[in-house]
Amino acid sequence: MSQSVVWRASVLHFLEDPAKQQGSEDAWEFFEDGALLVEDGLITRCGPSDQVFKNLPAGTEIKDLTGRFLIPGFIDTHVHYPQLEVLAGCGVQLLDWLNQYTFPAEQKFADEQYASEIAQFFLDQCLSHGTTTALVFGTVAPQSVDAFFQQAHQRNLRMIAGKVMMDRNAPDYLLDTPQSSYEDSKALINRWHNKGRLSYAVTPRFAPTSSSEQLHMAGRLLREHDGLYLHTHLSENPKEIDWVQELFPDSKHYVDVYDQHGLLGPRSVFAHSVHLCDHSWQRMGSSGSSIAFCPGSNLFLGSGLFNLNRAKAHGIPTGLGTDVGGGTNLCLLNTMKDAYQVSQLREETISPLQAFYLATLGGARALHLDDKIGSFRTGNEADFLVLNPAATPMLQFRTEKTKTLEELLGVLMVMGDDRVIEKTIIMGQEA
Ligand SMILES: [Zn+2]
Repeated sequence: MSQSVVWRASVLHFLEDPAKQQGSEDAWEFFEDGALLVEDGLITRCGPSDQVFKNLPAGTEIKDLTGRFLIPGFIDTHVHYPQLEVLAGCGVQLLDWLNQYTFPAEQKFADEQYASEIAQFFLDQCLSHGTTTALVFGTVAPQSVDAFFQQAHQRNLRMIAGKVMMDRNAPDYLLDTPQSSYEDSKALINRWHNKGRLSYAVTPRFAPTSSSEQLHMAGRLLREHDGLYLHTHLSENPKEIDWVQELFPDSKHYVDVYDQHGLLGPRSVFAHSVHLCDHSWQRMGSSGSSIAFCPGSNLFLGSGLFNLNRAKAHGIPTGLGTDVGGGTNLCLLNTMKDAYQVSQLREETISPLQAFYLATLGGARALHLDDKIGSFRTGNEADFLVLNPAATPMLQFRTEKTKTLEELLGVLMVMGDDRVIEKTIIMGQEA
């Protein structure tokens, strides 16, 4: 039997990047008294409530949430679920941070029971923070990815994940080999890729921890299966970049290392990309690769200030990533605030509308999922959020005084956190 529910509230979603259409309101739709009709988990109508309510299908359930906001679910384009327990590890930059905090924590995920417990907690926290889709690192242990996908599948979430490939420059207990990483990844692809709403990402950690032979294996996996993602790190920290040049002396630059191994292209997502030369930017753009902009992590680890305008100039699809545990929380509202602060330091200030675009449709485009999620386009999957702009006394005090949509979004982005997320809806169902 078909299920039909209409949600009435203020409704906001994006059709385009507001940065491309400054001064125009064509990039988004906002219905102050709006409504969404969801039938069998899909969006079938979005508009002013008087229009959406006309000729509703018989038996439609009505949910009146006047005073609340409906927006598409947040998309986290780069996060490590096994790093939840090293959140807020202070005192070091990237390479020491990996050795001191991250690698010891990732060792525990060889135990599938442990991995399963953390995956459950991670997904609970994603949902309570309003994240409905994420591109997720596992660890080198394939069971870490089995555990994650198992939990995501049970909840019917649209998630992308993969096993870390890492055959050098890390503790022995975390190393695989080119052959074992190929075979383990292939088995995971066969078990999980395109199962329900899940997709697989080939996941070499970053160039320093993979031999050339292993990066070739990653390229081979991409060629052998349709629709896979490539997910890795790129040009996060100056010492890391120098190290890559030492390890791959024949490469022109960091991007070229991945390029030589066939790893660039649409559905390839590179986290950070903070320090890129002109040729790297061009190659990222011409190859159709995507970037996960992780401002919270870049600030916390002192990595640098990402150049969002440059990415836009080269037409590179860019989403936001929390990069937990380099980032300090799973909150995309907070990540928008960090992105805003990075843009301020660069004197290239982004608007709150642009920040909300990045966290929703921008992320969907970076993951090539905008035909399924990221907006309230007819036919999209009904993953969305109910936001309460008066979730705390301070927020109520401040949001009541806002006069425009943009001002309200600014307050939510700067002052809001997971308390603003009143409900998270997955395929039309409350999670
Ligand atoms: Zn990362």
